[in-house]
Amino acid sequence: MTLNTGKFLRINLSSGKIVEESVPEKIARDFVGGRGYGIKYLYDELAPNVDPLGGDNKLIMLNGALAGSSAQAVSRWMVCTKSPLTGAFARSICGADFGAWLKFAGYDFIIIEGKAEKHAYIHMTKDSCQILDASELWGKDTRETQEWLKEHHGSNSRTACIGPAGERLVKYAGIFSDRRTAGRCGTGTVMGSKNLKAITVTADRTVRLHDPEAFKKLAKEQVELIRESRAFQFHKEWGTTCTQDVTNKLGIYPVRNFRYGQQVGYEKITGAEYRKLRTGGIGCYSCPAHCGKSHKAVDGPYAGATTEGLEYESIWAFTGTIDSTNIEASILADHLCDDFGMDTISTGNTIGFAYELYEKGILSKEDTDGLDLSYGNHATMIALIKKIALREGIGNILAEGTMRAATIIGKGAEAYAIHVKGLELPAYDPRGTKAMGYNYATASIGASHCYGYARQDVFGAIQPRMTDRFAEEENADIVVYNQNGTAMTEIGVVCTFAGGWDWVPSHFGKMLAAARGIDELADNDYLQQVGERIYTLERLFNIREGLGRKQDTLPQRMLTEPLHTREAPGEGQIVRNQDKFLDRYYQIRGWTKEGVPSSEKLEELGINI
Ligand code: SF4
Repeated sequence: MTLNTGKFLRINLSSGKIVEESVPEKIARDFVGGRGYGIKYLYDELAPNVDPLGGDNKLIMLNGALAGSSAQAVSRWMVCTKSPLTGAFARSICGADFGAWLKFAGYDFIIIEGKAEKHAYIHMTKDSCQILDASELWGKDTRETQEWLKEHHGSNSRTACIGPAGERLVKYAGIFSDRRTAGRCGTGTVMGSKNLKAITVTADRTVRLHDPEAFKKLAKEQVELIRESRAFQFHKEWGTTCTQDVTNKLGIYPVRNFRYGQQVGYEKITGAEYRKLRTGGIGCYSCPAHCGKSHKAVDGPYAGATTEGLEYESIWAFTGTIDSTNIEASILADHLCDDFGMDTISTGNTIGFAYELYEKGILSKEDTDGLDLSYGNHATMIALIKKIALREGIGNILAEGTMRAATIIGKGAEAYAIHVKGLELPAYDPRGTKAMGYNYATASIGASHCYGYARQDVFGAIQPRMTDRFAEEENADIVVYNQNGTAMTEIGVVCTFAGGWDWVPSHFGKMLAAARGIDELADNDYLQQVGERIYTLERLFNIREGLGRKQDTLPQRMLTEPLHTREAPGEGQIVRNQDKFLDRYYQIRGWTKEGVPSSEKLEELGINI
């Protein structure tokens, strides 16, 4: 039997040329799938210093190695590209069905190159791929776009698309499928820059496996392990709509642009309060968790507003950032970001930044088109979301993200821009969870909690050991462990919400081996090394783009201003030992003091550059 190494499509929007290619066996063994293929192809094919929004950048959309199979919670998908926010490697993950449909069409990934002369969309089936005219679609929001494409290509179609924000090159526009988002790093901005509105796949449900019988048995066991998993049960019940209960009690819920770690009146935005407005649950392909919780506002000025999938980060983005406890406003804000096609984390963080500039007098009412950006004013937040998406007035500046907006505004605004490498921080204050903070500082894509989630600090996980969440360089090993482990699971785009950490150690490798016919994949040590190889190649990509130790830093506020936690523990915490942390972190990784992977490490990982 031959190895199942996978196929991909290369679609050039400039020339219109579309070519089917196979993944070489060495790449299939060394990088396996998902994020592994993403960085490998991007590193090999992207010239250094290309303009992220120019025709030379590439957009790679990938499913995981097990997508579309009978295994559960492995069919999310991701986008890899060079980010217009950070200038670094970008990867952003999305749920829903699109990843499975891409696999049903016969592909592990597609590489989109060039730039279409006119507004275009791509339609793929198992036997064909066409670049089609999108003039009727341009200007539509993400919901209307998907409805139009379903109408034209049938109910057996699934779409990934951008909204008006991506069309206008808002720097943190995302790519949407159903109401799920590859939100981070400006993936939708790159898609918009290529004049590409959508990719639609029409396909029947079939996948190619190396050993279907062995796989079926393993998948049955995996499903049983998932059902028993506490993480699965928890997310089935709550999604992430109650994480704010935990983070407020820990004093790490960022309030007023990361000045406070606990929100006054957070009892009004607990999971239980959101639950009162819940209308249902939404899932991804082959996952019974349905962790996306839909909500409907019933009272007040936003009554009738609905959202599908409001989760922890979005709850924070539209409450803590502006110090509002108005749940209905957060529902409408999330809905608008989904329709316009914007990342909620960067949107909320940037708005919180603008509110602080207004408080400090750096922005006046004249600068804000007459809007009052006083804390608590949720009506202004709603107005700003629309202005950002359409690049109107002050929104045109805020659409650039905090780092670039601060440079445009000047007057010392840089001190209040809370980002790493240009990517806005999410909803965990680094001063109260240092392992999360240092993950932000060192993550290949900038400040992403998902790149090495410090579940030891936040939820008391005991693997590989318990942590003191205020410790610094002492937890460098934990940061490396979390980052490499995440990279490893993302070769399959495994969802940890559905109990990934409970079934991956015993079953992931065996399932990969059965799916691909590569025996080594059954060995966990082999997979761990694949994770480290991926992470290291991402580092090499970033170094080639001019990033290094200097950019591995948290925002000044974290290094110089004590955290105020009100009643929660952690009052006065600060990030004190960033240099010591980096020394230790690089040493564990086998990188030089400047953060460059050593030749010995590259040899150990089999990376030839
Ligand atoms: S747990 Fe949630 S995000 Fe994960 S695969 Fe299931 S429905 Fe999707």
